[in-house]
Order: sequence, then C-alpha cells, then structure tokens
Amino acid sequence: MSFFNSIGRSMTRAPRNAKRSPTPTSATFPPDQQPQQQQPKGAQSGPPQAQKPLYLCSPFVEAALVKGNFKTIVMLPKYVDIMEWVAVNRLRYNILLELFDFYTNLNEFYGVLTEFCTQQNCPTMSAGTTLNYTWINQDRKHVHLPAPTYIDYVMTWVQNMLDDDNVFPTKSGQDFPPSFPSTVKHIYRQLLRVFAHIYHAHYAQILHLRSEPHFNSLFAHFLAFGGEFELLEMKDLRGSSSAPVGVGSLWERWKGMGILGG
Ligand SMILES: [Zn+2]
Repeated sequence: MSFFNSIGRSMTRAPRNAKRSPTPTSATFPPDQQPQQQQPKGAQSGPPQAQKPLYLCSPFVEAALVKGNFKTIVMLPKYVDIMEWVAVNRLRYNILLELFDFYTNLNEFYGVLTEFCTQQNCPTMSAGTTLNYTWINQDRKHVHLPAPTYIDYVMTWVQNMLDDDNVFPTKSGQDFPPSFPSTVKHIYRQLLRVFAHIYHAHYAQILHLRSEPHFNSLFAHFLAFGGEFELLEMKDLRGSSSAPVGVGSLWERWKGMGILGG
C-alpha cells in the first residue's frame, strides 16, 4: 500500500477506536493551575519570540530516565556467523520491533494530551515559531490540517502499515519487501513530526504531568536509534532556515551533551 493510497484510506475511514490511554480529567489541573497554551502566536504578538522554549531550559533538557549514552542502548547484536539474508531479515525485524515500541509509547503520550491538543488550541500542525507542517491530500496537494487531525491521520496510517503483512511481514521465512527502508524512513519522519508538535505546543502540559523524564527518554531513544540506523534525515530534524524545527535545537543540545552518541 503506498503512502498516498493510505492517505485516501485514512481520510475516508470511520474514526478508529484509538488505543490511547484515558485522558486525565480536568481535575488533574486545579482551575488556578490550568496549563497555559504556550503556542506562540506570531501574527498577534509581533516578531517571533527570542524566548527559549521550556524544553531547552535546565533542568528539563537534561531530564531523562537513563543517564549516559543512548547509542549504547540502541546497538543491536551483530550477526556475523550466519548467512547474510538471515542477518538482514533479523535486523529488519528488530528495527520493526523498535518502531512498534516508539509508535505505541508516542501514542500513549499523545493520548493524555488530547484534551489540550484540540482543533481550537492547535489549528495547525505547528512545530516551530514559523513552522506548520502540511499534509498531502488525495489530490497530492499540501493542505493545512488542525494538529489533532494531522496526528490522527499519522497514527492511523502507521498502525495500518504495522498491521499490514505485505509491508512488514511477521511470519518467519517471509522476506521483507524491497521498499522496507523507505517505508521505515517515511514512518520515522511522520513520528518525528508528532514529537516536534508535542514539544513545541504541549511541553507545559508534559511538565504539569511530570512526564518530562519519560518523554525526553523516549525522544532521545528515538533520535539515537534513528541516527544509528540512518532513519532520520537531517533536513527533517533541522527544517529550513526560515522555518526551523523547534526540536532541532534540542537534538543539537543533546548531541553536544554526548547522550546521542557519535
Ligand atoms: Zn496540539
């Protein structure tokens, strides 16, 4: 199934029963502590703010469950003494398992943010002061979607891919299709966008939920794994000079701190 076909499917399908964690009730936040929507409103507040995003400030930037170098965690066993195709297939199977874990964990994090990530609060898929991702629709046109709609499309698309035995065979003896590397990269790029939106628009809520160590850990693991297996494109991490990706700075900081490895 191609990406474009899958978009058509996801745009016409009935709303899925998301496997998401229950969302916290409003009692999670006392009325006087309701997290403020910290989405910068460039148009209303003049030039882009020079203010540093919270996720780049201490101690949040260092908040991770695992101390040390994430590269050592993502190294997979080397298979040097068996036939190469077995090695390739095992490696791909391991990559698939990791991908499934990233998807599941990210879906759970997003699940607790859905009451904040609404069409009203997030009318675009923002990921930087001047960056709003667009979705490619059935006519292959770039369209702006509210972030919750965009993220629902991404998660539905990824779930469909992971469930599709032709894309990711799960039975032993089945070969992975030649499109495997490009499919995984495509999924990685879209999951990165979901991370980027959450950091940009919902980090205050992550902090209120005291989830920043877990979330940073998940993202650092995602980045280290993506770097190790060349699943991440630099242009997707950095964005363009006129529309930089907010988490691109976080990635640079973590790289500078040595936690993402070489
Ligand atoms: Zn949002």
